Amino acid sequence: MLDRTTKLVSYQTYIDGKWVDAASGKTLQSSDPYTGEPWALIPECDKTDVDRAVEAASRAFDSGPWPQMTPTARGQAMRRIAQLIEKQAQHLGEIEVRDNGKLISEMAAQTRYMPEWFYYYGGLADKVQGAVVPVDRPEHFNYILKEPVGVCGFIIPWNSPLMLTAWKLAPALAAGCTVVIKPSEFTSASLLEFMKLVIEPAELPPGVVNVVTGYGPVVGEALVTHPKVAKIAFTGGSVTGARVNELAAKSFKKVSLELGGKSPNIVFDDCNLDDAVSGAVSGIFAATGQTCIAGSRLLLQESIHDKFVEKLVAMAKTARLGDPGLADTQVGPVTTPAQYQKILSYIDIAKGEGANCVLGGGPAGQEEGGGKYFVKPTIFTGVDNKMRIAQEEVFGPVLSVIKFKDEDDAVRIANDIAYGLGAGVWTQSVKRAHTMARRIKAGTVWVNTYRAVSFLMPFGGYKASGLGRENGMEAIEGYLQSKSVWINNGPAGGNPFVMKTAS
Ligand code: NDP
Repeated sequence: MLDRTTKLVSYQTYIDGKWVDAASGKTLQSSDPYTGEPWALIPECDKTDVDRAVEAASRAFDSGPWPQMTPTARGQAMRRIAQLIEKQAQHLGEIEVRDNGKLISEMAAQTRYMPEWFYYYGGLADKVQGAVVPVDRPEHFNYILKEPVGVCGFIIPWNSPLMLTAWKLAPALAAGCTVVIKPSEFTSASLLEFMKLVIEPAELPPGVVNVVTGYGPVVGEALVTHPKVAKIAFTGGSVTGARVNELAAKSFKKVSLELGGKSPNIVFDDCNLDDAVSGAVSGIFAATGQTCIAGSRLLLQESIHDKFVEKLVAMAKTARLGDPGLADTQVGPVTTPAQYQKILSYIDIAKGEGANCVLGGGPAGQEEGGGKYFVKPTIFTGVDNKMRIAQEEVFGPVLSVIKFKDEDDAVRIANDIAYGLGAGVWTQSVKRAHTMARRIKAGTVWVNTYRAVSFLMPFGGYKASGLGRENGMEAIEGYLQSKSVWINNGPAGGNPFVMKTAS
């Protein structure tokens, strides 16, 4: 059982290796989504604090011990981070449950898995290699250096603060960058605990990792527009992502965006039905549907539609709502009041559009195991892919069921959407599995599984679901840039008014 007895916990933020209050002295309250009560006080930073943090990160990048460290030593520091996370995994998971209402069963698994990012990218730190280029001039020796891009700003959403930080921090440190992290105003506590229990004891030089807490339009925008920030790595909604991209473009920052989705989970009549039902439930009700990869459009082949819906509703009905701090809870609260209202409004939109609500369809009160910000697991059948409930990201436990005839029809519906983050395919045909994997326009396709992630596999979106990839070998490239070096070993000579080309 999660300890909820503590009164308001006061946090400071971490800038330049020191614990500090916001320059203004202001704080904001963070609430426990299960009780709806404030439980933590977080510094409400503003542009002054962002300036302090970016200056510290910029100093740490240009001078001091960090740029002097060999990549091997950086890798060792990252392995220390991994070991410290292993020690603190349970506690970090519990803080996140308190702050964002995620299930303890999910958080325990996430924080146990997090060290792998630091082991993997720590191992990669001294394997970043440039190249010697056999340039088309015999007197020249040419090579390419891979260099870190500089100060990176991370903007982290409320749905998985620690994991999504790890996805950015590990490759950035391996590349040799320094960072300033802005967590969501709703969920800053787990990151601040991470700084206290992991980053500080790992003894990275001051200024290498900084945190600036506060409101998105104030702190986030100050970071995105800061002239000394070279790259922004953002995870969040598409509307904010588009604004971040636009602002960052003005100062030519590199940007990676991990945005929303409306992922199709496609079930063919040759599937293992029980596995697919479980995959559909996991796709939409895990994490209370508050995940970018939610399988929120369930595409069912006509021939199995009725039987599948019957089994699906039967399984979804058994979902245990309740305290996310209890190990056997399956659906927790919605993280923020605004998100709760948004989900309920989409349920009304779906009803207004004529979709058929076969399960849930409103708030879940205490008698159902719910509470202040709980929504019943909700299933709509009879959804047309053109409806708003099929096209727009709800980010909650609301499933749209859409019928299809055959493979071509499934592909057409799956791809007829602005997003392209993930997709599920349920079939026992190997041929169909590979064909569908190629035809669906999404960054990840899961066959006979759903919502699996790994530090080894690139993750990111096609179309409006984002730019760039996190995880895997590719991710470190996003924190590096190439420098071409030309060494002339021959006479300088030639016409000084004409570009030096080979011919
Ligand atoms: P946002 O995209 O607005 O928030 C993500 C991050 O961006 C937060 O740290 C937020 O800070 C910050 N931010 C907000 N405004 C700005 C800004 N102008 N400049 C820079 N940073 C900013 O998500 P919301 O919380 O508003 O959720 C809206 C919708 O986005 C959800 O309903 C859901 O559909 C989607 N979403 C998708 C996520 C994903 O993983 N792809 C994650 C979260 C939401 P702060 O929280 O302090 O405002």
